[in-house]
Amino acid sequence: QAAQALKSIARSEHIKSYLQQSEELYPLVLQAAKRFITGESRQDGITVAKEMIRKGYAVSLEYIGENIKGAGECHEAKEEFLQLIEEMGAASINQTVSLDLSHIGLLVDTEITYTHLVELAEKAKSYNITVMVSMEESSKTDDILDIYKRAVRHYSNVGISIQAHLYRSVQDLHELMNYPGKIRIVKGAYQEPCNVAIPRSKELNDRYLQLVEQVMEANHPLSIATHDESLIQQIEQRHCLARSHVEVEMLYGIRPDLLKNAKDNGYTARMYLTYGQEWYLYLCHRLAEYPENLYLALTDMIGP
Ligand code: FAD
Repeated sequence: QAAQALKSIARSEHIKSYLQQSEELYPLVLQAAKRFITGESRQDGITVAKEMIRKGYAVSLEYIGENIKGAGECHEAKEEFLQLIEEMGAASINQTVSLDLSHIGLLVDTEITYTHLVELAEKAKSYNITVMVSMEESSKTDDILDIYKRAVRHYSNVGISIQAHLYRSVQDLHELMNYPGKIRIVKGAYQEPCNVAIPRSKELNDRYLQLVEQVMEANHPLSIATHDESLIQQIEQRHCLARSHVEVEMLYGIRPDLLKNAKDNGYTARMYLTYGQEWYLYLCHRLAEYPENLYLALTDMIGP
């Protein structure tokens, strides 16, 4: 319930515009958000990316945004991603860009989304950069998979995220392994009906392991994207993770100790970095999935 409330708050335009207009509150909440985001500008993202690469991490960079309903805004978001890829290339950050298709057109038109994704993939390819497509609510899964499959036929530098919590993911994964793109396995961040998805439970963890197992056995490029220590330990017990096509990936600011361990063990440890003006939504997602973070956020805002 707390999670749902926080997600509703995140989507409230009223609260968002109040926050943006409040000269006192805005910097305080931004301060709290900086535990999880690099900052508001592309330059913030690039600066932190360089620092993390210097420390031995791989990185993914996302310009935050989702569920954009205007064609003009989707075009602008695509342009921002192009610029990001350009600047990453110029700085020799030949790594990963991550995005939600609903940020670049999914709610407007699937053809526009496809065209945008292909434009990004083309530019990214010239810099040896991977474009990872995120997975969103289950109502969008079919469209996301269709667009991904069309794009990856031409651009093997496009990858896809798959949510272990969706029952359908077993079948989807089976099919996705026929395509060359990297597969990122996540538990799933969205509240879904119980006939569609498995809630956080041992059953979900077992499903997560099963999916990882499937991809590992096929020697397919894989990102193990979780902060669940015991899951990572179980995977480590069964497989050598120090392989070039396997990586452990975590969100910036969440369990950095665990990601450092992965790096120190010789695995590719990828840190998922975000930037952008829409950090408020991203912050609420991180608070909603782990309400203990509310305490940290308040401490960041008012001091210990
Ligand atoms: P959980 O069972 O949720 O948490 C396990 C443990 O991790 C917790 O006990 C806690 O110790 C720690 N933890 C988890 N979350 C937090 C937090 N916010 N703050 C502090 N500690 C925490 N979801 C999608 O639906 N679509 C995507 O495309 C997508 N992409 C992602 C990409 C990456 C690289 C990562 C890491 C996650 C992504 N997610 C995505 C989110 C994912 O689905 C989960 O919601 C999120 O990772 C939390 O689940 P968990 O696997 O860490 O396990």
